[in-house]
Amino acid sequence: MRRLEEAALDASTCTRCRLSQGRTQVVYGVGDPNADLMFIGEAPGFHEDKQGEPFVGAAGQLLNQLLSEIGISRQDVYINNVILCRPPGNRDPLPDELDACKPWLDERIAIIDPAVVVTLGNWATRYILGRQVSISRVRGQRFPWSSRTVIPTFHPAAVLHGGGQASNQMTALRADFQEIRAALAERPQPAEEQLGLF
Ligand code: SF4
Repeated sequence: MRRLEEAALDASTCTRCRLSQGRTQVVYGVGDPNADLMFIGEAPGFHEDKQGEPFVGAAGQLLNQLLSEIGISRQDVYINNVILCRPPGNRDPLPDELDACKPWLDERIAIIDPAVVVTLGNWATRYILGRQVSISRVRGQRFPWSSRTVIPTFHPAAVLHGGGQASNQMTALRADFQEIRAALAERPQPAEEQLGLF
């Protein structure tokens, strides 16, 4: 399997779908290539497209804050989106765009091999779980997925738009991050895996 930087370099010139025409750059992902925890959002927005990094701006700051509250730094996780190029006007990606970008996501997950995958918002959750679910119903729960654990939660941008730090959504988001921390603490450790205990 090739290394993450090779995959990112390859993706940086991707023209598999029409989103290549309007992007400033491909927004591949950021963080630790060996992370046990991966966050998956929807698609780059305006600032992400300009800066080439996912989850910058207010939503990114909230994500950093939530990570800090459970004792994890942004550098220790991997953050990316289902779609690598900004859809025009931040519209939802179209089915053929998702199909075109899926191999890049599959490859990132295979290379990074995270134990816990957190989907942010309805959209990424439905894409990863492969079914029509409501984020308010499934948030904070653990779902087994390809030998990993998926934990859906609200998208930080949605929480900021829906009332911010004092909202019920923010309380729920905080509770979900405690669940993320618990799932990470319970993941099989390498020594245990080698002993065949899991
Ligand atoms: S969105 Fe994905 S598939 Fe489409 S051009 Fe960008 S990197 Fe390629």
